[in-house]
This record gives sequence, C-alpha cells and structure tokens, in this order.
Amino acid sequence: MGHGGHMGKRTFKVVLIKPSHYDAEGYVIQWWRSTIPSNSLASVYGLLDGCAQDHVLGPDVDIEIDAYDECNTIVDVKTTIREITAAGSGFVGLVGVQSNQFPRALDLGRRFRAANLPVGHRRVPCQRLHRYAARFAGRPSGRARPRHHAVRRRRRRSHDGTPACINGGAAKPIYNYLGDLPDMAAAALPVLPRRIVTRVAGHYASFDAGRGCPFQCSFCTIINVQGRKSRYRTPDDVEAIVRVNAAQGVTRFFVTDDNFARNRNWEPILDRLIMLRDQGLKIRLILQVDTLCHRVPGFIEKAARAGCNAVFIGLENINPESLMGTKKRQNKIWEYREMLHAWRDAQVMTWAGYILGFPTDTPESIARDIEIIKRELPIDILEFFCLTPLPGSEDHKNLHARRVQMDPDMNKYDLEHVCTAHPIMSKETWTQVYRDAWSRYYTDAHVETILRRAVASGLSPKKIVDALTVFSGATWIEGVHPLQFGFVRRKIRTQRRHGLRLESPLVFYPRRAVEFATVALRWIRLMRRYRMIMRKVVADAASRTYTDEALVVATHSEEAVCDFVQTFADKIPKTYGAPPRRVAVR
Ligand code: SF4
Repeated sequence: MGHGGHMGKRTFKVVLIKPSHYDAEGYVIQWWRSTIPSNSLASVYGLLDGCAQDHVLGPDVDIEIDAYDECNTIVDVKTTIREITAAGSGFVGLVGVQSNQFPRALDLGRRFRAANLPVGHRRVPCQRLHRYAARFAGRPSGRARPRHHAVRRRRRRSHDGTPACINGGAAKPIYNYLGDLPDMAAAALPVLPRRIVTRVAGHYASFDAGRGCPFQCSFCTIINVQGRKSRYRTPDDVEAIVRVNAAQGVTRFFVTDDNFARNRNWEPILDRLIMLRDQGLKIRLILQVDTLCHRVPGFIEKAARAGCNAVFIGLENINPESLMGTKKRQNKIWEYREMLHAWRDAQVMTWAGYILGFPTDTPESIARDIEIIKRELPIDILEFFCLTPLPGSEDHKNLHARRVQMDPDMNKYDLEHVCTAHPIMSKETWTQVYRDAWSRYYTDAHVETILRRAVASGLSPKKIVDALTVFSGATWIEGVHPLQFGFVRRKIRTQRRHGLRLESPLVFYPRRAVEFATVALRWIRLMRRYRMIMRKVVADAASRTYTDEALVVATHSEEAVCDFVQTFADKIPKTYGAPPRRVAVR
C-alpha cells in the first residue's frame, strides 16, 4: 500500500464494491461468510492490480486498491469517503452489479456522490436501467454521466468489456461488445488477495476459464453479454491463476464459465489441472455444465481427475414443452438419467437448477414433476427458481415489446420473486408454488433416499448432508434462496434501503436478538435431524447395496426408457436420438 516512503509520491485510491441486495424489510443481505465468490470482483481487481504494478498513472502515483464483497463485508461508507478524500484522488467502482443489486448499488452510489466522489458501475445488462441511473444522477431523463478518473493503459487486455468511460470519456447507457468480443488469451488474471477470498465459506476463489455459450435459452442474459462464441483462457493462464492462489493457500475454485462443457479449450485446461494435481496441488473445482456434457468424450472423467467434486447442471425442467418454449432445445430429457449416472460414476455431486412458472405450469403439474424427479432421477441437490424475465434476456425484451407488465422494483429480480404475469397461475399461487417446491423436495424421507443413493454410489454422505442442510434450510429458515445464502446473517440497522425510515435501536436490537436466537435454534434442529438420518443410513449395511428406480442405469433400448420420458412422450419433438414413441401414459 501507499507511498513506500518516497517523498513526493501520490496515491490514487480505488475502492471496488460488489453490492448485495435488500431483503423484504429493506436490510442489506449480508453474512459473516458468504458462499459464492464474485468473479467480477476478482476480474476487475486483477485489471487494476496490473495497472498498479505498471504505474500506469505515472511513476510518482501509487494505485491502492481495496475490494469488498458486500455479501460478506459491511462496507463502511464514511471511512471509505475519508480515505479517498485523504488520498486526494481515486474512485469507487461498483462491480458485478446484477439486476437485483441495482437499487443497492444506486443507494451506495448516492452516498458516495453526495461526498463528491466519482463512482462507476459495471455490468448492468438492462436497456432501461439508464433511466434509473439518470434519476440517481439527478438528471431529468436519458443519460447518466458518472465521472471517472483516467486509467490509460493496462498491462493485459481486458476481456470483459470494461467501459471506455474509465478512460475519461462519457458513460453510455448501453455497452454492446457482442460484435467485437476480445480474445481471452493473455487477459488479466482474476485473482483476489487471500484476505478477501477467505471471507467466502470454504475459501473458494473463482475464475472464468472461458466465456460464451452456443445455446439460446430465452431466459439467459449471459449470451447477450458474453456472446455465443467460445472464447477461452490458455492452459498457461489457468495454471498461473491456480499457482498464484495456491501460493496464498487457496486451492478451491468455482469455475464461472456459464457452460464449461462448451469451452472449446476444456481438454487442455483440464489436462493442465490434472498435471498440477499430480504435482501435489489439492485442487477442488465446482463446474457449471449442460445436460449433454456426458456426450463430450472424456469430459466427465477428466473433470473428476482435475478435482471437480460438484457440478451445477442447467436441468431447468423435465417437460419438453416447457424446455422448447424457452429454446432450451439442448435439454433432452431422455438423456438426463444417463448424464446424472455418468457424474455419479465419477463420484461427483450433482446440483441441478429447476425453473418454475413456464407457461403450461400449474401447481398440480409442478407437484407431479417434483415427485417424478424424486423417484426417477438421481439428483443430489435440486434448487428452484421462478422463471424471471431478467433484463438483458430475450424474454425481457419480448415482454417489453409486448408491453406486458413487469415488476418495476429491480430488487426483486433475484429469481425467487414473481416479476411478471403467468397465463394460468396468479402471482400468489406462483409464489406459493415456489415455496412449496422446496418443502416438497426436501422431505426427511427424500433426504434419506438421497443419502442411501450417495452411500450406494460411493459419494461422501457428509458432503451431501451438509449441502442438503443448506439447500433445505436457506429458504424456510433464512428466507433467502441458497444462492444468496451465507453463514450467520448480519443486519445493520443503519444500512436500510433508501426511502425507508431507520428503526429505533430500542425496537431493532431486541427484535434482532430474538430473530438471531430463533434462527440459530432452527439451524441446530435441522442439522441434528439430518445428521441423525445420515448416521442411520451409514450404519445400515443395506445402504451399500441400496437401489431404486433412479439408480437403474438408463440405456437407449425401448424397454429401458425412464417412466417419466414415457409420461412426456407426446411432448418430445421428433429429433435425432429421441426415444421411440409409445402412447403417452398420462
Ligand atoms: S445453456 Fe446456460 S449459459 Fe447457455 S444459453 Fe442456456 S442458460 Fe445461457
């Protein structure tokens, strides 16, 4: 940090903040330890760190960088203002701002701007957000013009479209780089200092080994930011990221490629990681993949050897009609069980997303489909989302063009709130269906089944039961989606959404004490219950030979087609590889 004792040196202070968002009462959702690392924070930190090392502002200027993920750190706005003001120059960068975090980003920005500090934000993929920004900037309409200081050159090229406004130009409402996506080779390395990484539970760092996904899901925003063409890092750069992190004791990584199975450089990258593991680095990876990844020869086997022990799969739904409706054509339901088995055989925990609120969904059909999944698919962790027209997605664009009403509160675009109308379900019904889905899947009986399947497949029951506890408890105990969950909720009385009054300390703190104790008690009870189930399952010798319908290996023969595939037979489009049609049994 700082001047290093040189006379006449100046400091340019940069404070990067990854904002969180607000809960229903208007308090910032933040934790003692969060669970998902922010790759945007790491990417921007990496870029600026390169600038600092190159003294891009001149030999007499030291660039000092602080970075905070608000999900695990209380941002002290007053101290930050004091530090930048004392340095004499610098700026606040609000990074990785998702749609639901935009109101919080504005509230933070408002306070920094009131102190005359330059503020910039990155990655708000919404064409209409400039209106909010204009309001925030105190302008009647149109364009916001946040001021930025000059950072004129970068040691490595930015791969993420850092706006030109950082070069001192005017900010634009929309940055569209889809026609000119930069190569990721030799892009800045997304590396954060250990003190920031260790605020994530399990000390997970993140990196993107590639960007771009060839598919066209209509609810997806990322293809409209990162494009559909595969761009990727070199194995040398991935090794450099791993080695820099390992040098500070961090060897667990969340690989944030939206679909690592479509990274055209997956094999050299995994080969390099396998080599590093053979050299003794205890690398652990979480990957995000699609449902056809098992068709990529060698992919699953190499992913497991490279240290992948959990995989997030965009399953989304089991009804082909719903999948086709959102252009998720690559999801072939007759392949699901085989794909899940391939990961189980590699001893990798599967974690699948499931979307509720497709046009033909009803409470009854959703309840039926969840029961089918429990019975027929060997998924370890299932998480539910409301189909949300995220700004930047095709769905949002189409609804906007058709003038369909969407919730104006961006804070609700967190995938657990209903943000637009459904053709069959009312808003209340849809919301209730979302809540019921969690309790329907995470019954004690099904937790026991998942654990029996884990023991039979050689997966770690301890790892699975920990994940089950978090995913089962986050929604009903903490009232947040597991992706927003962290350990030990922190609520700061004075950090409340703009426009809401501060509560009296005499009301706030006693209520918080009761809340805290109640939540802790519920967690203890849930943990105990699930541990008891796990102990029972592990102690039972029959668990090792346990089998059920989901564990029967699916093949392509007509007899072996899963029951649920037959259930949806009349909805399956006639495509290559589709199972032979029998009469639908519904
Ligand atoms: S597979 Fe995933 S990343 Fe690719 S378009 Fe669909 S939702 Fe987006």
